[in-house]
Amino acid sequence: MKGISFQTAISYLKGVGPARGQLLGKELGIFTYGDLANFFPNRYIDRTRFYKVKELQANSSEVQLIGKITGVKSVKQKRGTRIVAQFVDESGQMELVWFRGAKWITDAIKVNVPYVIFGKVTQFNGLFNMPHPEMELLTDYKKGFKTAMQPVYRSTELLGNKGVSNRVMQKMVQQLFYEAKDKFGETLSKKILEEQQLISKNEAMFNIHFPQSQEQLTRARHRLKFEELFFIQLQLIVKNLTNKTKNKGFVFDRVGDHFHTFYKDHLPFDLTNAQKMVLKEIRKDLNTGAQMNRLLQGDVGSGKTIVAVLTMLIAIDNGFQSALIAPTEILASQHFKAVEELLLPLGIKVRLLTGSSTTAQRRVIHEELENGSLHIIIGTHALFEDKVVFKNLGLAIIDEQHRFGVAQRAKMWMKNTLPPHILVMTATPIPRTLAMSVYGDLDISVIDELPPGRKMIKTIHRFDNNRLAVFKFLKDEIVKGRQVYIVYPLIQESEQLDYKDLMDGYESISREFPLPDFRISIVHGKMKSADKEYEMQRFVKGETQIMVATTVIEVGVNVPNASVMIIESAERFGLSQLHQLRGRVGRGADQSYCVLMSGHKLSKEAKTRLKTMVQTNDGFKIAEVDLKLRGPGDLMGTQQSGVLNLKIADIVNDSEVLYTARKAARKVAYSTQGHTDPEYAHVWKTFESILKNKSLWANIS
Ligand code: ADP
Ligand code: MG
Repeated sequence: MKGISFQTAISYLKGVGPARGQLLGKELGIFTYGDLANFFPNRYIDRTRFYKVKELQANSSEVQLIGKITGVKSVKQKRGTRIVAQFVDESGQMELVWFRGAKWITDAIKVNVPYVIFGKVTQFNGLFNMPHPEMELLTDYKKGFKTAMQPVYRSTELLGNKGVSNRVMQKMVQQLFYEAKDKFGETLSKKILEEQQLISKNEAMFNIHFPQSQEQLTRARHRLKFEELFFIQLQLIVKNLTNKTKNKGFVFDRVGDHFHTFYKDHLPFDLTNAQKMVLKEIRKDLNTGAQMNRLLQGDVGSGKTIVAVLTMLIAIDNGFQSALIAPTEILASQHFKAVEELLLPLGIKVRLLTGSSTTAQRRVIHEELENGSLHIIIGTHALFEDKVVFKNLGLAIIDEQHRFGVAQRAKMWMKNTLPPHILVMTATPIPRTLAMSVYGDLDISVIDELPPGRKMIKTIHRFDNNRLAVFKFLKDEIVKGRQVYIVYPLIQESEQLDYKDLMDGYESISREFPLPDFRISIVHGKMKSADKEYEMQRFVKGETQIMVATTVIEVGVNVPNASVMIIESAERFGLSQLHQLRGRVGRGADQSYCVLMSGHKLSKEAKTRLKTMVQTNDGFKIAEVDLKLRGPGDLMGTQQSGVLNLKIADIVNDSEVLYTARKAARKVAYSTQGHTDPEYAHVWKTFESILKNKSLWANIS
């Protein structure tokens, strides 16, 4: 490859030239040799198999046959001429058809000489025909270099019109490999190649374009997927390690009286093993001198609150203040009540700060936070206001993180000389593979076990025309002393319509469940927060038995006596939302139920969602299905899509490769000799140039 590198403009490749070069750049983003090398085929056509005419089926798609042409005729049509050739093999006959290039075809075709033909077959009037076949004389076919699996590249209409067919693409890539033979520098180290039994970069690059067998293709793919995931993981792990040395944190080296007294005398239950494990991880983090950045995942009801409380006690034991931030006022005040009650016996002061706090309340809170006499503050976004100044904030716990922007987290940090330790709690389980790829730079803890004695929530799907039976069931439950939720969708775009649905629903429920036997609360987004709070409280206190609501109640609300969740238009909710809503029940000792109401017209995806909900209560399983349905980008929002912009690997289907790649990357990142370890020196070199070029794939030469 004299004078040529992977950065060389594609127009220099033999057979490309300036016009095609420009076209390739515009249409496919192929500007350089490297871009073309990394333009992997979409799929492959297996040309190891030859068909006989009598084996053809109407849906045979692309097939290859050997036979002779016995005659050619032109058929005049309204527009131009159609050429039809009779093609026969020993088993039968079919037609080859051309709608363009009549002259060229009739001149070129040789009669009664064996050809290899290849193309799509269709059936017309009981006869098979193949329009515009690729054909080659059998003698030429036998001479030529053949790859068993033909690569098929992504293309565009314009490319097709300008004569850049798949065949031309193949030729270009062949030319590239001819010029750049064996020039793909190895990116991994010998040790990793051996341990993981991977083929070399050179071999993989050749075989991804021109595999000789399915097995070769599999090995090439595996190697390239591993490489891609490996370097992403290495990047995330290295970032995490750097953060730990860079982001110094307070050292909480004491586990003191508050913690011990509470643990010994006031813990209302034994911790589950998962809770204990998580607590251990947190305690370790708090003591390293680095800032903790930990994500705590635990399904609804798994008991994250107590972990938060115990962590705050460690902060207090070390002389620091803690903040617990929730996304809604309702949730913040529930947290406040729960935490205040738990800590009452220890005499620890806890206060609540939300948008509804009065000026007088705020004044007290601001003062106490600033002079350090208040140890725990619980609240909403209101905590992020500039007026809120801490004497020594050592710990910030953020509940239900997906509602908070990272920017706000950062703002918290700025309020202090050293940033507080951060614990982010989420009840939205993120599939492990996704968490690893997106939050690789955060530490992750998982509570994967529910407290003992929890009953499965029985979930059923009912169609709208069964509503009367569902109402009857509700009545029976209410008569037994239970409370029930009826939830309506609220989606921004159709807010007016949804509001009408909710109000219509409320009216018919009021008719069906009349006073004085039944009392109903209603909560929706258009209400003032004081009214919302009032209605909510009536339900919490058991004064009302039915809560009609929009998804406002999705997050965190805890009413153990509520045992039925009815979700209206359930087909309109996403899986994670359905799971969150269902999590509002099943918090007490009674058997709980979730009824998913829907119309009869359901999309395939909606059916899958409802079926999944009926089949399982496990949030992680539900999250896996969600990931498969929606794809990683949608699941995480756009901000992380960069990380997920994978070229060849796929975190849904390549989870095994991801796990091994991560393990291997950890080994490199944590290797004691660091960058000087000769076993990994080469990997570090690649890594550094990836950081410079921002992409593995721009980095192969
Ligand atoms: P979430 O993880 O959804 O925030 P909570 O912290 O609200 O869950 O806990 C749900 C319920 O389970 C609460 O009533 C809590 O008191 C109870 N709980 C938590 N941990 C345990 C445990 N180890 N044993 C028994 N009950 C527990
Ligand atoms: Mg919670």
